[in-house]
Amino acid sequence: CRCNLGKDLGYRGGAQTQAMRLLALNSDLFKNRMFRRVRNEWVLPVHFKTCLLSLFQFPFGRRLPCDIYWHGVSFHDNDIFSGQVNKFPGMTEMVRKITLSRAVRTMQDLFPLEYNFYPRSWILPEEFPLFVAEVRMMKDSDPSWKPTFIVKPDGGCQGDGIYLIKDPSDIRLTGSIQSRPAVVQEYICKPLLVDKLKFDIRLYVLLKSLEPLEIYIAKDGLSRFCTEPYQEPTLKNLHQVFMHLTNYSLNIHSGNFIHSDSVNTGSKRTFSSILCRLSSRGADVKKLWSDIISLVIKTIIALTPELKVYYQSDIPAGKPGPTCFQILGFDILLMKNLKPMLLEVNANPSMRIEHEQELSPGVFENVPSPVDEEVKVAVIRDTLRLVDPHKKKRKDIQCQTLEQVSEASEELLAAGRADRADCEAGRGPEAGLPSLCLKQVFPKYAKQFNYLRLVDRVAALFIRFLGVKGTTKLGPTGFRTFIRNCKLSNSNFSMASVDILYIDITRRWNSTGIDHKESGMCLQAFVEAFFCLAQKKYKSLPLHEQVASLIDFCEYHLAALDEKRLVCGRGIVERRSAVVPCQTDGLHLTPAAHTPLPNRTATASKFADYRNHRY
Ligand code: ADP
Repeated sequence: CRCNLGKDLGYRGGAQTQAMRLLALNSDLFKNRMFRRVRNEWVLPVHFKTCLLSLFQFPFGRRLPCDIYWHGVSFHDNDIFSGQVNKFPGMTEMVRKITLSRAVRTMQDLFPLEYNFYPRSWILPEEFPLFVAEVRMMKDSDPSWKPTFIVKPDGGCQGDGIYLIKDPSDIRLTGSIQSRPAVVQEYICKPLLVDKLKFDIRLYVLLKSLEPLEIYIAKDGLSRFCTEPYQEPTLKNLHQVFMHLTNYSLNIHSGNFIHSDSVNTGSKRTFSSILCRLSSRGADVKKLWSDIISLVIKTIIALTPELKVYYQSDIPAGKPGPTCFQILGFDILLMKNLKPMLLEVNANPSMRIEHEQELSPGVFENVPSPVDEEVKVAVIRDTLRLVDPHKKKRKDIQCQTLEQVSEASEELLAAGRADRADCEAGRGPEAGLPSLCLKQVFPKYAKQFNYLRLVDRVAALFIRFLGVKGTTKLGPTGFRTFIRNCKLSNSNFSMASVDILYIDITRRWNSTGIDHKESGMCLQAFVEAFFCLAQKKYKSLPLHEQVASLIDFCEYHLAALDEKRLVCGRGIVERRSAVVPCQTDGLHLTPAAHTPLPNRTATASKFADYRNHRY
């Protein structure tokens, strides 16, 4: 199996860093004798029998197709036609603070209770008046409410540009905020403290596949501590970053920062060590884990609709292309009552397992960080195990695969012999490996969460009408066709009103300045229009039922239309050259060709197949 580290893909900076990062990781893994260098290749022959992975470097450009492409920053390579890439198209954009807040808010509109793990947020500058009005209203209804807010610049990281405020009037609206949009969020004032310090959790999540949805969560994560004892925010302490912000990159500059030489002390610890401590205090750790799993699944459900739009645009269905997987970093804060709250999702979580130490003034050295190593090596190892392209083949042809891969070198042959011995002894190539640290949570718990996947189904409608491959925005004709094919227009809702709805919503979304590259209606605008239509049609129901009913209605009509086209297509084949008055591409059948609608049961069963998100 060939694995490309991205170095040859024309990436600068990030990709190089990632390649270096992985090599740094490798060099550490050499100590564990997991990776070894054989001529030009890095191999994992002994402790990694499941993968027999060769990491090729192509300093003069990649010529051979690879099984796994390990990109540094984002998915962007038009020359990949097979294999697996470690990034999803559009993921970096999706987890930016504003986009994530928007995606979660859509879900909060539909399922407010299920999505109460994300602090109330407003987008600046456009929602500043709304922010002021809502805060005033909440203060009026509860005068004892003394909130604090945290302002975070969009696209910022490592605590960059973040500040706390007590009142909307404290927002720095002049200068940078105008040019740099931000999210303002309710500040969680009562976090859980350990040793009187605030801390957050970094959990690693593997999104192994988008369709069908497959999610894995690492059993252990990192806990990153503040370096000043926590006090609830007051006007006096608002600016004390070492007390309020848990970022490693900030706290490392505090004189109180303690580099851990074990996994349960210092300013960065394993999450499992915190859980042990909580458990010994009698906390319900099982419930906490199940709340965290639910937070992760729900967040990914909020992200998938737009990710699917990006995916079909970069990797159109029916054309050769790679499949994708991605390691995400989830930042979670525990409240005093142990409720986990989502802070943010990172598309490029750091995989460094070393930290810098100042030996003498100005002289730095990279030293191993046992806590990072404990958590991150397992995440990388298991990701490679799960995406191992030989795994499936091995299942089919068992030990035969070893004959082929072991040709690479003497070392690999030795490994192959060891594996063959394992196979012969009935132990299998995974024998002797640590058990997986990545645990599957979806589809394992799909039954509990599938009802939340409404926007996914709206996105499927959107993608169907996008028309031209490679676009992410719907034109006015596509929108009209959607309305017509789903039979949403009637005497109360004329096609002229459809056009007005399209123009109104599209103009507003395009004026938010998020994406000027393409004109047309983005998915979020389509979702807003869809909600609007649902509210119009099913007045008295709660929003999620209105939306679900409208989706059912649209899917029913589209399934019926597909059925008609199928019948029409059969007619064409049967009558060969006969002229059939049947139009495709969303136009109605002419009355002459109008076959009676198939009975409702037949259509409904086809329609059940079509709704592939409802199990
Ligand atoms: P960045 O990407 O810059 O790290 P984050 O959203 O992770 O931005 O915020 C930085 C830090 O601020 C977090 O690690 C956390 O300690 C703190 N923080 C962020 N949002 C909140 C919040 N709503 N309530 C309390 N603390 C928060």
